[in-house]
Amino acid sequence: MRWLASCYAKPLSWRMGVGVAAALTGALARLILMGYLEYRLTYVTFYPAVEIAALIGGIVSGGLATVLCALMAHLWVAPLVNLGDWLGLAIFLTMATVISGITEALHRTWIRMSDAETRVAVDDHLRVANERLRLAVSAGAIGAWDLDVAANVTEASPEMRDIFGFAPDTLVNPETVFSAILPDDLPAMQATFRAAFDPAGDGEYYAEYRIRRVNDGEERWISAKAQAFFADGRPVRLVGICRDVTEEKSVERLLAEKARLAEQITSVAASVPGVICSFRQSAHGKQSFPYVSGNFSSVYGLSPDEVRADAGPVFRRIHADDLNNIEASIAESARTLTIWRDEFRYEHPRKGTIWLEGQSSPIMEPSGEIIWHGYVQDVTERKRAEEELRASEAQSRAFFELGLIGVIYWNVNGAITDANDKFLEMLGYNRQDLEAGRIDWVRMTPPEYRHIDDAALADVKDRGATQTFEKEYFRKDGTRLPVLIAGAMLYASRGDGVAFVLDISERKQAEARMQKLCADRMIVMESMAAGLAHEINQPLTATGSYLKTVRRLLDMEAERRQASVTETLDKAAAQVRRAGQIVSRLREFITHGEPDKIQLKLHELIQDAYDATNIGAKERQIRVTLQLDAKEDEVLADRIQIEQVLVNLIRNAKEAMEAAQRRELVVSTSSNQTDIRVDIADTGVGLSEKAKSDLFEPFVTTKLSGMGVGLSISRAIIEVHHGKIWAESNPDGGAIFSFTLPLAGTQTDT
Ligand code: ADP
Repeated sequence: MRWLASCYAKPLSWRMGVGVAAALTGALARLILMGYLEYRLTYVTFYPAVEIAALIGGIVSGGLATVLCALMAHLWVAPLVNLGDWLGLAIFLTMATVISGITEALHRTWIRMSDAETRVAVDDHLRVANERLRLAVSAGAIGAWDLDVAANVTEASPEMRDIFGFAPDTLVNPETVFSAILPDDLPAMQATFRAAFDPAGDGEYYAEYRIRRVNDGEERWISAKAQAFFADGRPVRLVGICRDVTEEKSVERLLAEKARLAEQITSVAASVPGVICSFRQSAHGKQSFPYVSGNFSSVYGLSPDEVRADAGPVFRRIHADDLNNIEASIAESARTLTIWRDEFRYEHPRKGTIWLEGQSSPIMEPSGEIIWHGYVQDVTERKRAEEELRASEAQSRAFFELGLIGVIYWNVNGAITDANDKFLEMLGYNRQDLEAGRIDWVRMTPPEYRHIDDAALADVKDRGATQTFEKEYFRKDGTRLPVLIAGAMLYASRGDGVAFVLDISERKQAEARMQKLCADRMIVMESMAAGLAHEINQPLTATGSYLKTVRRLLDMEAERRQASVTETLDKAAAQVRRAGQIVSRLREFITHGEPDKIQLKLHELIQDAYDATNIGAKERQIRVTLQLDAKEDEVLADRIQIEQVLVNLIRNAKEAMEAAQRRELVVSTSSNQTDIRVDIADTGVGLSEKAKSDLFEPFVTTKLSGMGVGLSISRAIIEVHHGKIWAESNPDGGAIFSFTLPLAGTQTDT
C-alpha cells in the first residue's frame, strides 16, 4: 500500500508511462503467445496487464491504459464479430474502470491518512527541535529577535533584553538598539545592517560592536547575526540572534597580549648582551639546554644544536679550577630549589678565557626533572676592571702603610673615611680626631681653595682621576700647610676615592727664598757699579803689587833678583785677566742668574784662591794653613763664582785680623756622603751678636772703605749652587765662615 501510495505521489507523466508500459507488455505477451492460445484467451494475457496498470496508475493512467487496450484489442484481437466480443470488451472496460476508480479512491484515502501521520510526526519533530533551540538559546544566553520592517517593531526575546539591558516593557526597534551602541562602532554596524536589506544581496547580516548596557551603563561586546526576508523584492523581516561576547573578547585580548608579550620577550632576549636559557637536569643527572636565546653562539662559542640534548660541550669548556664549584652550586640549587648564582671562567673557542656570570631559578617538574630558567652573561671586562681596581687599591694601601706620603680615603660627600699616620702627622691631627669625624675636607680647606677642590672633584667624576694640583690645608692649630695632591676614584658607584698628599712646605720655603734671592740680586744689580769696583779691587791691587815688584826687580842687577821678571809679569797679566773675568761673570750672574757649572775639584779651587790672596800675607804676618781633608771634593760649580766666594771670605778674614795680635788663618775642608764643607777660620775681631744676624744682608759693613756686598753676593752664589753659608764665632777668638756644596756624585742639577 505504501508503495502504491508512493506511486500515486509520483508525477502524472510517470504514472502514464507505467500505464502505457503495462499495455504494451500485455500486447507483446499476446503477440508472443498468439500461436499457443486461443484468441479469446487474449484476455488472459492482455487484460491482466491493463488491470495492473489501472491498479498502479489510478484513474488517469488506468483510464489511458484502458483506452489504449481497447483500441489494440479492436485492432489485433479484433474482429468484434459478435456480441460476445463486444460483451467481453465491455466487461474488460468496466472492470478496468472500476479497478482504476477503486485504486484512485484507495490512493487518495491512503495519502490523506499518510499526510496526517506525517504532519503529526513533523509537528512532534518541530516541537522537539524548537524546544532544543529554546534551551540552546537560553543556555547560550543568545538573544533572538525578529524585526517587522513595515511596523518597525522588533520582537526581542528576554535573553536579548538581558543582553542589552532593555526593560521587559521597552518597545524595541532598530533605533533603540542604535542608541545603545558606542559612537565609535555605530557607523560600521549601521552599514552592515543596511546592506542586509539590499534585495540584490543575500540578506545576511553579521556585526560585532560595543554597547553601553542600558540598565547599568556597562560596556559590553555584542555579536549579532541575522537573515533578511523579502516579499516582492522588498524586505519584510529581519530575523536574527545576538550574543554578549565580552568575555570571549577579553580572552581574545588576553591571548593577543600574551602573543605580543611572547614576541617582546623574544626580541628582548635577542637584544640583551647575555644569553637567556633553560637548563634541564634529569633525575639521573643528564643535563641539557632545551632552550637558548639568539646570542648563545656568541657568548658560548657553540651552536644551540650542540647542547640541546647534552650540556657536555659547555661543561667541558669550563675552567678546571671552577668546574667543581659550578657542579656544587648547581647541586645545591637543585637540592634546595633556590636560585643558582655563580661566576666561572670559560674557554671560549674564539675569545680565549672569558668570565661568565649566571643566575637562574629552578623548578621541579612532575617527572622529577629540574629545569632552570635564567640568564648568563660575559663579565670579562668587569672582572678585568675589578682586578685592576684591586691592584690599584693594593698599591694605594702600600702607599698608605709605607707612610712616605699622606694617603687619605675620601667620599664625594666630603667625608674622610681613613687616613694614614703620615697625613695625620702632617696636619697635627691624631687618630681620635679621625674616628670622631673631626677631619673633613671642607674644614681643612681654606675658602680660597674650595674652587680648586670642586674642579678636582669634577675631574675625578669625569675621568676617574685628577691631575696633581697644589693647595693649602689648615693644620689643626690653624696654620697653613702647602700640599701637592693627586686623587683617584676607587669605587665610582659608592663615590669612594683615594688621594695622595705630599707636604711641599720645604719646597715652598725654598721657592720663597729664591724669590727673595732674585730680589736681592736686583738690589745687587743696582749697586753693581759699586760692587764691581769692590770685587775687582783685589786683582787690580795684586796686579799693582806684581808691577811694583817687576819695577824693583828691573832696578836690580839680574843676578841679584829673587824672582824672575817674566814670571812676575805673567802673574800680573793673570790678575788683569781675572779682573776682566770677574766683571763679565758678575754681570752674567746678575743678569742671567744662572751659573756656568762644570765638574771641578774644590781643593784645586781653594789652592788657586789661596794663591790669589796670599800676596802680601807675609808682610802682614799672617799664618795661613790649608787643611784639605775632605775625602771627596768633586763639585758641580761655576769656577769663577766659587773662587770669588773663597777669595771674598779669605780677604775678609785677613782684614779682620789686621789689628789682632794672633794672625792665623785656617782653611779646612771635610765631607760626608752628600756634601763638602769649607771652613775659613780666623783669629780676628770676631762677630758681635748684632753683626751675626745681618752679616749676609747687602751693604752691611764695618769698614771705612767697605761696600758691604761681598757676603751677600757670596750667599747668593752658594744658594744658587744648592749649598748653605753661615758664620759663627771661633772658640779660639775670631770668626769662622763656613759653606757647603753638594758633591757632584749626589747632585741632580737643574
Ligand atoms: P765688606 O768687606 O765690603 O764690608 P762684606 O759683605 O764682605 O763687605 O762684609 C761685611 C761685613 O762683615 C764686614 O764689614 C765686616 O764687618 C763683617 N765681616 C766679614 N768677614 C768678617 C770676619 N772674618 N770677621 C769679622 N767680621 C767680618
